[in-house]
Formats: sequence, structure tokens, C-alpha cells
Amino acid sequence: MKNLFLYCRAGYEKDCAAEIQQRAAELGIGGFVKANRDDAYVVFQGFSPDDGDRLAKDLPLDSLIFARQMFACGDLLDDFSPEDRVTPITESLAEIERAGELRVETPDTNEAKELSAFCRKFTVPLRQALKKRGVLLEKESSRRPIVHVCFVAPNKAFTGYSLSNNSSPHFMGIPRLKFPSDAPSRSTLKLDEAFIHFIPREEHETRLRSGLNAVDLGACPGGWTYQLVRRGMMVHAIDNGPMNHDLMETGQVTHHRADGFKFEPARRNIYWLVCDMVEKPARVAELMEYWAIQGWFKEAIFNLKLPMKSRYKEVSQILANMHAILKENGIHEFHLACKHLYHDRDEVTVHLWLRPSSPWI
Ligand code: SAM
Repeated sequence: MKNLFLYCRAGYEKDCAAEIQQRAAELGIGGFVKANRDDAYVVFQGFSPDDGDRLAKDLPLDSLIFARQMFACGDLLDDFSPEDRVTPITESLAEIERAGELRVETPDTNEAKELSAFCRKFTVPLRQALKKRGVLLEKESSRRPIVHVCFVAPNKAFTGYSLSNNSSPHFMGIPRLKFPSDAPSRSTLKLDEAFIHFIPREEHETRLRSGLNAVDLGACPGGWTYQLVRRGMMVHAIDNGPMNHDLMETGQVTHHRADGFKFEPARRNIYWLVCDMVEKPARVAELMEYWAIQGWFKEAIFNLKLPMKSRYKEVSQILANMHAILKENGIHEFHLACKHLYHDRDEVTVHLWLRPSSPWI
């Protein structure tokens, strides 16, 4: 397939487009991007017939900041009659064999979401037709490619596939998280999603386990601290504001009324550093680098507030600087990843894991 379809947050199409253009070029893949403001998707149109296939395989989704999900696709299908959408869609997918799952989706916009009920209903006859044709396996399999049909309007759809080892496990790339009724703020979901996104489920028991020590910079009223406490950790919460009373009652939280830029941990026993202070992104990045160089944490999750313009350029520059500074300071083994998560608005979330190969815990 020639093209690559990418889902993003509405309003971030330009950033997603700039990113895919650059990343495809790095892989020697030329093409151009079609993106309209507030569509919540962009399409990279390759020049060669297999450019979409190559990107779906060789460009790690986890390395993209602004794309929630992506799939290789053909050109827009927009000439099918409302009476029979199944036949042209099935034909457009004929080159796919024995896929393990079908997802009939829409971009994440209010208008497109009005198509959700139709998508659910339409999945049933389409699945039957795709099975008959051998595009889909009789039984679902999480190891086989995923067929995507994305309706961008009632009679317009992009169709294609993603590889199960290089796509989001979530429908439309959006994890469905429930807001805990006792959490002190809605931003609790940002850290919950970050943990789900950055830490593989099978490693939660070691890397997010009870008994680990954590520091939360800019903690009030306590949404992020809540996620750490819920996992049994002991938390130093740094903020001049008031902390949620119930969280303090758990006995797992020490509240320091201090400046997050000046606070220093008394002991070298901090595993997690999290930071949600509203500050200039370069200043937050510098603070994280400082903590890393001091060896004050093993893993960090922090937000970078996005600038108004050139968001991709600015964030990738900050990440490249961080990479260089860590190396210059003798930190060679680390894992740095960044994502515009579903619960992020004008910010991105960064994960920094120091010495991922050493058995610290
Ligand atoms: N993560 C929190 C939650 O889930 O409830 C919300 C954090 S809120 C977006 C940002 C917080 O950062 C505010 O409570 C603010 O007081 C704090 N903050 C901003 N600058 C700070 C600084 N220099 N030192 C400590 N806290 C700071």
C-alpha cells in the first residue's frame, strides 16, 4: 500500500504532518502529506506503491510523538453507494491475508464520532465478508495484522492494516480509562495513561510496585500522587499549594511546601520522579537533566507544555538536547520516549528511564 494514515488529536495535524514527513525522509521515503485543520488525522502519500507498507513496518509508532495510531492504506474510498459499502471495502483490502482483528473506526472529532453507532453495526457484515474472502481469520488473533477501516464521513473511508507489533492495542489509539471517583483531580488520568503507555503491562509488578519511593514535583492537589499512592508507593509531594486531605491520611505522602526547582531529595532512594509543573518546557527539561546527572531517580515521567507554534520542531529540539546532555555527562544507557497522550492537551508526556538494563530492583 502506498500511504500511511495517522490518527492525532484535533488541532495537531500540522505537527503530526511535520513529524511524519521528517521521519519518512530519514528512512529514505519521499512523499507528501495531506492534512486539514481539526480533522484529527493526516495521510502521508508515498511515491512508491509499497511506501505505506514500509512505514507501517519500519517506523516504530512508539517513536512518533503526535500519532496515536497508524496504518498502511490505499487512496480514499469515496465512490461507494450507501446501499453497498461492504463490497468495495472488501475489495480494497484484498491483498491482506489472514488478519487477526477488524477495527471500524473514525477520527477523534465530534462530527466523526456521530458515525460510531454506524461503525459498530457495520462491523458485523464487513467481518463476515472479510472472513469469507480470507482477509480475516475465522478466530481473532492478537499476533496477526489488524485491519482498519476509518470512516472520515458517511461515504468516505480509508482502509488498510497495521502490524500488531507496531500499533496501538487500543481502538482509535485511545485507551479507555475510568476516572477514579476519589481522585483529587482529572489530571490523575494523565499519569495513569502514561504508566500504561510507557511501561509494558508485564513489568508493572517490578517497575510500579508497592514500596518504591517517588517524588512528585508540582503535586497539588494530588492527582498524580494519587496514582503513585494507589500503587503502594511512598511519595514526597512538592508544592506550595494544599494537598488533598484523604491522600495525606494514607500515611504514604510527605508534603513539602517548597519550590520544585530547588527541592533536593534527602536520600538516594527515589525510584520515580514525576513532574507536572506548569513552566517553560526548556526549564523543566533542564531540571530533569539535572536530577538525572545527580543520579536522584531511576525513572521519570514529566510533562512539557507545548508552545503555540512549531510544536514538533521545539519538542524534538528539547529531546535532542536532553539526549546530548545526558551523554555528555556520562549517561549512556537510557531510554527516552515522548508522546502526545490522549489525556494531554497542550502538552506532551516524556518518559526517561536511566540504565534500563541494570537490575536495580
Ligand atoms: N499533577 C497535579 C495533579 O494531578 O493534581 C496537578 C499539577 S498543576 C497542573 C501544577 C502545579 O504545579 C500547581 O499546583 C502549582 O502550584 C505547582 N507549581 C508550579 N510551579 C511550581 C514550583 N516552582 N514549585 C512547586 N510547585 C510548583
